[in-house]
Formats: sequence, structure tokens, C-alpha cells
Amino acid sequence: MSAFAEFWLIACALFLWESTLWLPRRSIALRRAWRGNQWRVLDADGLLVMRELGLVLLLPLPPDGGLAPCQAPPLAVDGDGAFLLNVGAGRPALLAGVAWGDLHEEAQHLRVDGHQARISSPRCIALLRRAKQRGASPAAAVRQAWRLALSPARAGREWRRWRLVSAPLRWIGPVLTLGFFLGLPLTYIYRGSGPSVLFALWLWGLMGWTAGHLWWLGRRVYPGARAALRMDALLSLLVPFHAMRAFEIAALHAMGTTHPVGLMLATRDLTNPWLGGFVRRMLHPLPGVAADAAFGAALRGPLAAALARCGKTFDDYDGAPEVADDPAAGAYCPRCHGRYLAHVQSCPDCLGLQLRTLANPQPG
Ligand SMILES: [Zn+2]
Repeated sequence: MSAFAEFWLIACALFLWESTLWLPRRSIALRRAWRGNQWRVLDADGLLVMRELGLVLLLPLPPDGGLAPCQAPPLAVDGDGAFLLNVGAGRPALLAGVAWGDLHEEAQHLRVDGHQARISSPRCIALLRRAKQRGASPAAAVRQAWRLALSPARAGREWRRWRLVSAPLRWIGPVLTLGFFLGLPLTYIYRGSGPSVLFALWLWGLMGWTAGHLWWLGRRVYPGARAALRMDALLSLLVPFHAMRAFEIAALHAMGTTHPVGLMLATRDLTNPWLGGFVRRMLHPLPGVAADAAFGAALRGPLAAALARCGKTFDDYDGAPEVADDPAAGAYCPRCHGRYLAHVQSCPDCLGLQLRTLANPQPG
């Protein structure tokens, strides 16, 4: 293999490596469908996971313009003042009482009482920090963070603002990618080394421009993530592959305080199956799991308020599943919508949750 082919293959591998996002496992990335207003759900906990992070693959060449990597607030608090820390993807850790002194912000982590939750955008914590400065209690600050994260009005604003301020990055990414993988080798083959050096300098100028834009985003638009965006700006200046994916990398901070439910409601994607599933998981916690019950209790209030803004209630999502194709089904699980024969009492997938009978079973 020639040295040139080797170089090209290594560059492709580096580009593919940069075409990934590692998100905390509680995160959900939404990807806008090409047509219509439905979101595709990419669960960070689905494809490939490490202890705290899960992999989300980006589309390789056109920049992932419709990608919204959403993060839930790392802490929740139920009506009785019990705190929950979303440590990984599994069940959150239940903590008795939390004072400001118990919360520690460390490199990419929020640490409480021996547990830690991974944070990939410092904006997540910035909300809590501001509430602390205002003199709010930790419980009030966490409840406010959830109200904001789920609010359709705020999610819509955040999304529009991101689309606006990121517009230049959306076209500069593919220009860099095509220039590096096609333009540079073709210039070298057909024009020789002098013009290809000039072409490379032009590409480096684009990388510099990308870095400048990221710097500006951190300074003017997302000051909560200033340090992280400055680091991305520096990397974009030095690593071409980082600059090619600057759009998606910065999206992480832009949508760092928005819950996927808020964004789905904001864009009127009210029939998304994931939305229904999320509502049902909050309404029907797993029996015998205290943390799951507390998490449902913590979220039902702000979730109902967010749905009400779009003229929806829990009942719109808590109905029976479609059974036209399954005439034998006589019962269903209200949480996972698994369908069962009429004599079955509980759902084995949901730790024995009581089943509901189907109101109008189709005649067999
Ligand atoms: Zn079930």
C-alpha cells in the first residue's frame, strides 16, 4: 500500500472517530426526520456503552443538522424532598436530604454523597449554580431545572436560537470534509505540491474561522459552557476532524438543558411513540423499586404542566395499545404496552406490574 493510501485510510478512521458523540447514559439525542416533524430517538444507552457514557453515531457526511443531543437534569427531587441522582442509565440513586454543601462539581461530574453523575455540558449545572446564588434551596433549584428542561416554550426557543447561531457551522463542516478528503488529494495529483500547500492553507483558514465561531458561541451565546467551547475552539484550530464536526460537538452544549420531551412538545411531535412510552414509565413505576417510584413522583408534576401547554393530558398517552393485529390479546401492561392473554395477571418484563384488561377484545 502506498504511503498516500495509508495516510488516507488513517484520516478516514480519525474522521469516523470524530463522527461520534459520547453522551451520559441518561441522555437522548433526537434527530429530525428529513420530512415531516417527527423526531428519531437515539438512546445513548442503546448502542455501545461504557460505565457512564453511551455512543451516538453521527451521520457521516452532511452535518447532522437535525441533531439535538438532549440531557435531562442530573438531579431530581420528589414531593417529600427525597433527591435522586441519575448516576448512569439504570435506576437513579436515592439520597435522603441534600444541602448545597453536599453538591460538588468536579471535572465533568456532579458528586453527591459518594455518588456521581456524569455531565457532558457545564450548562446543565449552570442552572443550579445560578439558583444557589439567588438564595434558593437545592430542592427549589432542582424543581426549577426540571420545569425549564420540560417546558415546550423554552425548548422551542433554545432550538431556534441554536439553529440561528450555528448556521455558518452547518456549511463549513461539509466544505472542510470535502476539501480535505477530495480537494486536497486531487489538487496534489493534478496540480503538484505548490498549489496543494496553498489549498491546505485555505482549509486551515476555514478551521481558524470555525475556531473563532466556537469561541464567539462560548463568549456571547452560551457563557455557561465557555470553558468547554474554548477547548473545542482550540482543538478545531489544530485537528481538522474536530473542526469538521464542530457543529455537532457544540450542539451538545446548546441543548444541554433541554429534555427531549420539551423539544418534542415544542415541535408538535405529539404522537411520537417514545413520548408515550416516557409518560407511561413515569405513571407506572416498577413495583417494589423505591427509586423508580420516587423518580416518577418527582417528574409527574412538571410533566403534566408541560403536556397541558400543548393541550394534552396523561390520559392521551395512558390508553390501551393498538391490538387490531393481535385478536388473541386480552390484557396489556400499562407501562411497556406488552400484550398478554386474558388470564395473565402481571407483566414479567416490568417486575410483575399489574396488567389491565383490554376494554374491547376483538372476537377471536
Ligand atoms: Zn410491562
